[in-house]
Amino acid sequence: MGEPKFIKTVCGYCGTGCGLIAEVQDNRIKKIRGDKDAPVNKGQTCVKGAFAYEYVHAEKRLKSPMLRKSGQLTEVTWEEAYDFIAKGLAKIKSEWGGKAISMFACARTTNESNYITQKFMRTVLDSNNIDGCNRT
Ligand code: SF4
Repeated sequence: MGEPKFIKTVCGYCGTGCGLIAEVQDNRIKKIRGDKDAPVNKGQTCVKGAFAYEYVHAEKRLKSPMLRKSGQLTEVTWEEAYDFIAKGLAKIKSEWGGKAISMFACARTTNESNYITQKFMRTVLDSNNIDGCNRT
């Protein structure tokens, strides 16, 4: 067994962005604790941030975008996935107008992500049809 490494990171579960320290040994996360030097959480975490990390090593975890080709989900590059999405949205917009498109954003992501989401919808797609999961 190799020596454990302690790696500073940021929790990706919600927009709070707590600082974490991951104890990693032999390329596997063994434990996570809050980073006392992180101004957001000062060493604290919620239960998810501290314990829900095993998905990182899940065998079925998606590691690249998937597109359905001839009925089969197929791994593709990010460039191909974005190209597919852009062409699809442009086609809908040209045929039906921007109001035919809606976006469902997430209250738990960062303010910056939600800002850019609504900006993209309003300025690129000409749609105000934006909603979020705030009522859950
Ligand atoms: S509150 Fe919990 S889920 Fe959100 S960033 Fe902090 S540890 Fe992660």
